[in-house]
Amino acid sequence: CFCKLKGSIDDCSCSVDTVDYFNNMKIYPRVQSLLVRDYFRFYKVNLKQECPFWTDDSKCAIRYCHVQPCQEEDIPDGLKGDMLRNIHFNESPIDKYKASMQYNDCLHSAKDHNRELGYLNTTISSENYKDFELWQQYDDAQDNFCVKESSPGEYVDLLLNPERYTGYKGPSAHRIWRSIYKENCFRPENSPHNFIQSSKINGMCLEKRVFYRVISGLHASINIHLCSKYLLSSKDNLELVPGGRWGPNLQEFQIRFSPEATGGEGPNWLKNLYFTYLLELRALAKAAPYLEREEYYTGNKVQDKDTRLAINDILNIVKSFPDHFNESVMFTGGAEAQLLKEQFRQHFRNISRIMDCVGCDKCKLWGKLQTHGLGTALKILFSGKFDKWESTLHNFNRKKFFLERSEIVALINAFGRLSESIFELEKFRQMMR
Ligand code: FAD
Repeated sequence: CFCKLKGSIDDCSCSVDTVDYFNNMKIYPRVQSLLVRDYFRFYKVNLKQECPFWTDDSKCAIRYCHVQPCQEEDIPDGLKGDMLRNIHFNESPIDKYKASMQYNDCLHSAKDHNRELGYLNTTISSENYKDFELWQQYDDAQDNFCVKESSPGEYVDLLLNPERYTGYKGPSAHRIWRSIYKENCFRPENSPHNFIQSSKINGMCLEKRVFYRVISGLHASINIHLCSKYLLSSKDNLELVPGGRWGPNLQEFQIRFSPEATGGEGPNWLKNLYFTYLLELRALAKAAPYLEREEYYTGNKVQDKDTRLAINDILNIVKSFPDHFNESVMFTGGAEAQLLKEQFRQHFRNISRIMDCVGCDKCKLWGKLQTHGLGTALKILFSGKFDKWESTLHNFNRKKFFLERSEIVALINAFGRLSESIFELEKFRQMMR
């Protein structure tokens, strides 16, 4: 079977089998049960941001492209203030700093913060806020792999809007993928093709290969989801029948990934999925000391405690993985390496902007969330600030690195998507047997 991938994952020292076992037996069930918790379920996103590259694209009118809005009363109270509680309760300087940054965020989102103003600690002066804002801009400019949205957007309930087949295809979808590969991925020299051939990748340096592989892995993951949650019947009334409508479509999977249908490329794309998974896994391991300290505050004490226990359980397993992706061999060697790193970051930032051009809202939601999660992983791996995070924790200075709630939500959800793709791939293997 073409989807029984052999050998090790390119640019990593570990095998597909190792990842399959680790993910399917240990990670997947735990991450899925974590993602239904309120903290991870609500993601704030601006789906109305204008496409900065072209304006001539029409919106997808297919009903499955629609994103169901979130009801105000469904959003946990603690999220409406974006964890302002931290300001009141936490004592450590880093927590105070984080909390006040979140407060800043809220100031820009009048709709959200009103009900939580009672939590404000009045000892934080407006001078401090200005300072924090400056540092935030500094951090954004230096570390972020994603472009910040111009306005915070609205909460979306991810469970109400699962990633699955929507029918979005044709010129609009192709233009997005083409722009990503053609203009924003590093390309092998003299490559005339719109989409990059895997055989040409090996001639590129490690950093450029990594960039291509993570994008290709994300693309593979998105396409696996639409195959595994395919629209099996178009009769409207079946929507109410649980499981009666969406399910795996083996033929669709074969058309998208078999060597015959893809000029031999499909299995390479599937391997890139494993690569992207390993990269995000490493980011989680690296950020574990930080993530273990988060409050995961939603306002529900019991749930929040359970969430902390569940995430710590996952992080312990993540840390135990034997063959982590090694980011320390990238961007080494002086000024040229630094320049390459900056190009890498700028290319990825462009990709995050291209997501505003996706013509289907549901695809845009998940495209944005997954690039945000991947961008957060890259920030953890390459900003350098997590390298020394633990040792400098008590030696607080304001430049210290921190993650916003939306980054944590995107990171864990994006990882959950990759984890589910690897799990679904195993199901397709079984169906083919
Ligand atoms: P596409 O997937 O559009 O690919 C275009 C070309 O890219 C292929 O012909 C091939 O040469 C190359 N290619 C394909 N896969 C890879 C890979 N893994 N690595 C490298 N090169 C590759 N549709 C849904 O139904 N549900 C969704 O949730 C959804 N989300 C999307 C999110 C985004 C950001 C985008 C851009 C599209 C999304 N789509 C979604 C559409 C979907 O990804 C496809 O574009 C669409 O189904 C058309 O598929 P296609 O076979 O024409 O090839």
